[in-house]
Amino acid sequence: MTLRMTEQFTGNFTQQEPIPEEAIEAAVAVMRHGRLHRYNLAGGEQGEVALLEQEFAAFTGAKYCLAVASGGYALATALRAVGVAPGDRVLTNAFTLAPVPGAIASVGAQPVFVGVTEALTIDLEDLAAKLDQARVLMLSHMRGHLCDMDRLMEICDAAGVVVIEDCAHTMGAAWNGVPSGRHGRVGCYSCQTYKHLNSGEGGLLVTDDEEVAARAIMLSGSYMLYSRHLAAPGPEAFEQVKYDTPNISGRMDHLRAAILRPQLRNLAAQVTRWNARYQTLETGLRDTPGLTLVQRPEAETYVGSSIQFLLLDWAPEAVQAVLARCAARGVELKWFGVPEPVAFTSRYDSWRYAPTQSLPDSDRILAGIVDMRVPLTFSLEDCALIARIIRAEVGAVWQAGA
Ligand SMILES: *Cc1c(COP(=O)(O)O)cnc(C)c1O
Repeated sequence: MTLRMTEQFTGNFTQQEPIPEEAIEAAVAVMRHGRLHRYNLAGGEQGEVALLEQEFAAFTGAKYCLAVASGGYALATALRAVGVAPGDRVLTNAFTLAPVPGAIASVGAQPVFVGVTEALTIDLEDLAAKLDQARVLMLSHMRGHLCDMDRLMEICDAAGVVVIEDCAHTMGAAWNGVPSGRHGRVGCYSCQTYKHLNSGEGGLLVTDDEEVAARAIMLSGSYMLYSRHLAAPGPEAFEQVKYDTPNISGRMDHLRAAILRPQLRNLAAQVTRWNARYQTLETGLRDTPGLTLVQRPEAETYVGSSIQFLLLDWAPEAVQAVLARCAARGVELKWFGVPEPVAFTSRYDSWRYAPTQSLPDSDRILAGIVDMRVPLTFSLEDCALIARIIRAEVGAVWQAGA
């Protein structure tokens, strides 16, 4: 055996970087004064949560921002705020993560799944064919891949379909220079540990729509204290909605906001680091026989916090063999084609509470998607090593006749 064959990776695919010292100090300061609830403010104090909202609104260029308890909560709140009611149907991606159809189900609505293309984005033809089935699309930029957003908005606008964007993997990304989350009526983000900002749990919602913003704030549980927000519409917007919008508590607290604000200031630098790792992996995997990389469009500014490739039309046993061989060398890959849902399931047919649909073209693609996290604790050398391992093991199985 050559040395290269025995190379082993020993890093941890779920280990993120520590919380920055500045953020730790800000969190300790909140704990020292004890005012953790977002509306618990000393005289003249603006509070970490309202400041985070103001800063995130500026970061995305949105008029309004609301910080909440999770990304999933932001999605459900957006659906309620645009008026989705029990029994309604909501279009969404067949390839997404469980909290997306879960948010739809949480408001008593039914997901209608739209197919996925080889670019791992929503199939715009399938979308166009289904636009008459719902008045809302919850568009998930799954694994950070952006579809042609100009085209998508054109067809949704023409059909009068409201777009809510799930930007859990696209915070910091853009399409033709427009930040992800700013094409649709509402953009929703997650600050859960595996996303681009880490407060353990947390979510953010942005919009330019005054009524949607006011409703979302009321929904999150504002106890009529909306005047303490810094990225909210004026009091007149609440006069319309405050009596008929229920309180479904899901606020963010000052502790999490304190942790997030310094991270947000550093996000652009982190994106550069993610993309250097992504590009190292991509370079190492390029032209591997049997393996298809996802071509990133010119118009897309992406955040390479994970990487996907396709083993398109491979036999399931061969894909399993690649996964097992990579795992034996310390490289943890996730396969979306696995028949039985495991951790972080992402296929429409695992969500059996939704009406059954058949999407054979998407099934073919889902069966070939292999995914890997790229935590910033990996060095560029780590990424080059991981690519060598994947390349060797895909090659070995491919040569044996995948
Ligand atoms: C993480 C994630 C969410 C929201 O997740 P929370 O855990 O509720 O913050 C939504 N969509 C996708 C695609 C995600 O990966």
